[in-house]
Amino acid sequence: MKIDKDTQDIDALGDNHVGTSSETPMRNDAFELTSSEKIDIIKDDVRHIMETLGLDLEDDSLKGTPKRVAKMFVNEIFGGLNPDKKPSASTFDNKYKYGEMLVEKNITVYSTCEHHLLPIVGKAHVAYISNGTVVGLSKMNRIVDYFAKRPQVQERLTIQIVKELQNVLNTEDVACVIDAKHLCVNSRGIRDVDSSTVTSEFGGKFKEKETKREFLDYIKLDTTF
Ligand SMILES: [Zn+2]
Repeated sequence: MKIDKDTQDIDALGDNHVGTSSETPMRNDAFELTSSEKIDIIKDDVRHIMETLGLDLEDDSLKGTPKRVAKMFVNEIFGGLNPDKKPSASTFDNKYKYGEMLVEKNITVYSTCEHHLLPIVGKAHVAYISNGTVVGLSKMNRIVDYFAKRPQVQERLTIQIVKELQNVLNTEDVACVIDAKHLCVNSRGIRDVDSSTVTSEFGGKFKEKETKREFLDYIKLDTTF
């Protein structure tokens, strides 16, 4: 049998976790179906996978799984594909004239690896220096969560968070560091339980050594309350 070169390349790309773009690859017709139409289709797909694996879908414990998974995909873990769910871009004037760095750290990240559809779990640390505009603190958590709720590559997630905050705050001076565990590395494949992946994106002033250092020092602060 001839081994398909494309299939080999695609397998290698996935296991090496190489992404192709900072935009999530979406088709133009991505939202022609409603959420409930998507749930109906995905429910049948999940049922098909489970039946193919030989599971008895008549069993009370398994009966509800296809619908449950379909709803979870569309409404929860991949809900951030839907631009309607993007956090609103409300900002405020910086009345305090606070011109130093603001860091929101230890933001919980729950995402999903787009190569294996397994969880990515970790922490994001996000910072910006205001040029006159500020956002509510929870907005930063919401932006992280919105982009995390997609099939993701950690590098892309980091870049998408920074780009969105740069847009919202109208400044280049935004940075993000993510430290996360990938269950596709921890629980299968190489099965390295302890390893985690760190990615970073530094915009504007954060590219400067001193500013970057200050941000990274704040992240290291041990805040136990
Ligand atoms: Zn993976």
